[in-house]
Amino acid sequence: MSIQLFDTTLRDGTQREGVSLTTEDKTRIARELDALGLHYIEAGFPTSNPKDLEFFENFDAAELRNARLVAFTRARRPGGSAEDDPAITTLPRLSAPVACIVAKSWKLHVEKVLRATIEENRASVRDTVAYLKTAGKEVIFDAEHYFDGFRDDPEYALSILRTAAEAGATTLVLCDTNGGTLPTELKAVVGRTVREFPGMEIGIHTHNDAGCGVANALAAVEAGATHVQGTINGVGERCGNCDLITTIANLQLKMGLKVLDDERLRRLTEVSNYVSELMNLTPDSHRPYVGHSAFAHKGGLHMNGIFKDPATYEHVAPEQVGNVRRTPVGELSGKNAIRAKAKELGLDAVDVAAVLSAIKQREYEGYHYEAADASLALLIGRTTGDTKPLFELETFRIISEKRADGQTNTEATVKLLVKGQRTISTAEGNGPVNALDRAMRQAIGPYYPELKEIHLSNYKVRILDEHRATAATTRVLIDSTDGKHVWGAVGVGENIIEASWQALVDGLEYGVNASSEKR
Ligand SMILES: [Zn+2]
Repeated sequence: MSIQLFDTTLRDGTQREGVSLTTEDKTRIARELDALGLHYIEAGFPTSNPKDLEFFENFDAAELRNARLVAFTRARRPGGSAEDDPAITTLPRLSAPVACIVAKSWKLHVEKVLRATIEENRASVRDTVAYLKTAGKEVIFDAEHYFDGFRDDPEYALSILRTAAEAGATTLVLCDTNGGTLPTELKAVVGRTVREFPGMEIGIHTHNDAGCGVANALAAVEAGATHVQGTINGVGERCGNCDLITTIANLQLKMGLKVLDDERLRRLTEVSNYVSELMNLTPDSHRPYVGHSAFAHKGGLHMNGIFKDPATYEHVAPEQVGNVRRTPVGELSGKNAIRAKAKELGLDAVDVAAVLSAIKQREYEGYHYEAADASLALLIGRTTGDTKPLFELETFRIISEKRADGQTNTEATVKLLVKGQRTISTAEGNGPVNALDRAMRQAIGPYYPELKEIHLSNYKVRILDEHRATAATTRVLIDSTDGKHVWGAVGVGENIIEASWQALVDGLEYGVNASSEKR
């Protein structure tokens, strides 16, 4: 059985609150998904907003090597005609060879929301599918609220699918639009529908409102669905869509269905991070399969097992999805963990006892290495002399000014010695850390061009020992990324600027070292 993967990150995924993609972002994501080997990329609803239209007008679908580009639209309005409806007549002139048409399959919705007769709803589906089919498009039909509709009146829900199939749709997609259906019921309905349409491609489109987005997609495949819709990282409205990343990994590694070749499966982690990055979302480190912590082993007993045989505490091998096994090192870790970490970093001659005692001392002072893999790698590298600092600090200075008109200005000046050259640089920022980051990059950027690819993705501050009467200690965690990988760095000080500076420097130093090793 072959499964068609249909990605709607660029259409349904953009419904997520706070997400806004430019046409350029969409183009980059579409190319990335194509390279991953997905079969369909639904890139938007061209007549719903000018940005989506601009994308479809400028992007040549023939550019995609693997995927077919899909334009989304709705069925024509009740009482109207497809020929006079711009939401439909716009599609034939676009290069996207596939049209995905959504229409209602729940009687309640037809009567209450559309205020149309059931016959008129069928006519609308028939006209729209036939029009786009005649225009030469492959037509995929999305039956909205299919599961609620089926619960209410199975014959009616099925009749809408029949109408779409007779008019020329080649794939019938059953949508759990409200995301509230549970796997057992969903599987039964999909099974029944598959039997009603022998030879037709039956698809599944699920949402995660009941926490079952992925589970429902898998249940549908078990019941005979052969087309799966979802989004990268499950981005989408409310609680999100079915996460295509997890779904792909499960289909292939758990259900034995070959959906991508092994080489492409190993790109899942990278693609997941890339899309988070372009959407400006902090990657959730606990995502199944691809999260930064998905294969991080912390408990002593677990670590012991992992060293003997990774299968003891891992459900799949991290490499299969392009992730890596991590053994976060903290004050509870033993020498084995340090050795494993050094091996992971490719460092041989590590004085394990010295590293361990340095970690213990630093953690006592307030450092925390579990979430700061970059700082830990640097700490180990410094003990062996494998890590060289990017520069030497002479001084830095920050001026923050609040004016009577409410404006705040911040400016940072750094004086550094970079590769033997003394450089002085001043930059403004929207806060002290931002100004400092800019001034430092400005000073060292010419010596390290790879810095352009690296930026901060997350900044966290914690005050330690709040109960102490003396000044509290501040711990800053900074995540940096080059768009493909994420790494964490830590800084500690009595002063938030000092703590931030340490984390900033570690984050950049690690990034530059990692990128020069790649070459
Ligand atoms: Zn949806």
